[in-house]
Amino acid sequence: VANLESFTRWIADYAAVVAEQAEHLTDLDRAIGDGDHGSNMARGTVKAAALADSEEFAGLDAYVKKVGMTLVSTVGGASGPLYGTFFLRMAGPLAGVEDAGPAEVGAALRAGVEGVLARGKAEVEDKTMYDAWAPALEAFDAAAADGADLATALGAAAEAAAKGRDGTKDLIARKGRASYLGERSRGHIDPGAASTTLLLESAARTLG
Ligand code: ADP
Ligand code: MG
Ligand code: MG
Repeated sequence: VANLESFTRWIADYAAVVAEQAEHLTDLDRAIGDGDHGSNMARGTVKAAALADSEEFAGLDAYVKKVGMTLVSTVGGASGPLYGTFFLRMAGPLAGVEDAGPAEVGAALRAGVEGVLARGKAEVEDKTMYDAWAPALEAFDAAAADGADLATALGAAAEAAAKGRDGTKDLIARKGRASYLGERSRGHIDPGAASTTLLLESAARTLG
């Protein structure tokens, strides 16, 4: 199960990974976007990770809500509102939950991904972060239905996200900045799908 302490470890771990991978994320975005995804994410995640040091949170829901608000106001670009919405929407199913198991985390993930969908209106194979989110959620649910514990279900989600990320390479972008390139967007991995995979890999390491 995951509690408030695990969630703060998740965000701290993600901030560390994003800082380490910022150059890589920016390189991906340079190929099919404007070359700022790494710096956008690094700026926002460092702020989100610092929340736990400066504030007391009454519960998981209050924490993810503040993380979401922080990402919305600091990441910027197209990805800031999308990641922000993901965390803001996670708060609903986590209200009143102290120790989140596969059922609670699954419900929160689903709400978050639905938020990404509502905000970005991307479909599968539009070559966006949704191509990592959608298979991850599906894999999580399948593992949880099989009775997997939280860490195992998150591991399955992270693996599916990585596959989805790699699958964006051969796609033509139909949403976001990369869509301006049309056919020329093919042959490059989507930066947002890469940062989403890192977020889920980080969750698999720290939650559960
Ligand atoms: P910007 O494109 O404004 O510079 P970023 O570089 O930070 O913002 O983020 C780009 C990423 O945002 C893309 O790689 C893609 O994954 C994601 N993205 C853009 N538009 C959408 C959308 N409509 N739905 C889902 N994800 C999107
Ligand atoms: Mg960009
Ligand atoms: Mg930009």
